[in-house]
Amino acid sequence: MSSTDIVQKLVRKDIRQMSAYQSASREQTISSGCWLNANEAGGNESLTVLLEHLNRYPDFQPQQVVENYARYAGVKPANVLVSRGADEGIELLIRSFCQAQHDSILICPPTYGMYRVSATAQGVNTISVPLTQEYQLDVESISTYKGQCKVIFVCAPNNPTGTKIKQQDIFTLLEVFKEDALVVVDEAYIEFCSAQTMAPFIAQHPNLVILRTLSKAFALAGLRCGFTLAHNNVLAMMKKIIAPYPLSQPVATLAANALTPANIAIMHTRVTDILARKQRTLALLKNQPWIEHILPSATNFVLFKTKKAKSLFDFLNRKGILIRNQSSQPTLDNCLRVSIGNEDEMKKFYCAVEEFNQVNLNQVSLLGSNKQ
Ligand SMILES: *Cc1c(COP(=O)(O)O)cnc(C)c1O
Repeated sequence: MSSTDIVQKLVRKDIRQMSAYQSASREQTISSGCWLNANEAGGNESLTVLLEHLNRYPDFQPQQVVENYARYAGVKPANVLVSRGADEGIELLIRSFCQAQHDSILICPPTYGMYRVSATAQGVNTISVPLTQEYQLDVESISTYKGQCKVIFVCAPNNPTGTKIKQQDIFTLLEVFKEDALVVVDEAYIEFCSAQTMAPFIAQHPNLVILRTLSKAFALAGLRCGFTLAHNNVLAMMKKIIAPYPLSQPVATLAANALTPANIAIMHTRVTDILARKQRTLALLKNQPWIEHILPSATNFVLFKTKKAKSLFDFLNRKGILIRNQSSQPTLDNCLRVSIGNEDEMKKFYCAVEEFNQVNLNQVSLLGSNKQ
């Protein structure tokens, strides 16, 4: 029996059928280039850490990280769980609250892909209730699933659209599902629109769960550190199944350091700079002859629609500038997503866009001369 055959014979049927999450780095594996495809921040100061006590197991929940994050988020340390990225928070919520082959989660596409991937990997069903045409929650349709789903994922602001979700709708869901489901608000991009956070409300809503990360505004995607904010009874269930030492000691040391007041101030400056570059990017895109629609962005990325999606994507790709084609997502036909990188990266992007127009112009005039 070949290794393919034995694996195909033994693997869980649902895993055989599922497709793996298409992360930006799995899709495009060239190592040099201008990475504007994964909503990372462009560059961080090099951090160093003293590697000591590596003979010992690290803390189950590193106290300094928990305390610093609680202070930053304005919640109590008892309401903070640290994990290997927000992605692990998603997985732990599904594993601890949804039973395989029995329970369902609910998502509102187009949205972040990991909710469905984690559910499927756990044998949990995914109910999809698409966002409205205005990219808002379809509260009425979602409410019809009362009693049929245990965890509702709301990405706010939403990835990949970049749009805000009305807080009032989240409050309505919390109320409608107060005895039936957890409402998980994924705030991976909250630093780019901080007034939208639901963090002040976890004390009043036992079914409210918030996901946070150091991967975006904190520019530490490589660290793999994320947070779940919730009532301590929710976190207690997640702690039953989390790995005994989810964060390595160097990661914990670096994360605690990233969350000191001085480094939080640096993060705020980075956010201000990114938002300014986003305005310039929006202005540039608005003036393009091929632009059809640009979604209002509350994040560090911009989603835009263009008939030239494929040719622009390919052109940029050949120039070593990687953005993301979202055309395979429902309702996002011909939509591209560009992350707002650092000054240098954005200049490269602007120049390449101008070049793309030039090449197109030349092709149009060539076509014209052929006809004669
Ligand atoms: C990037 C992202 C995450 C993952 O965060 P990690 O902490 O890097 O695992 C979660 N949710 C959304 C919406 C994201 O865009």
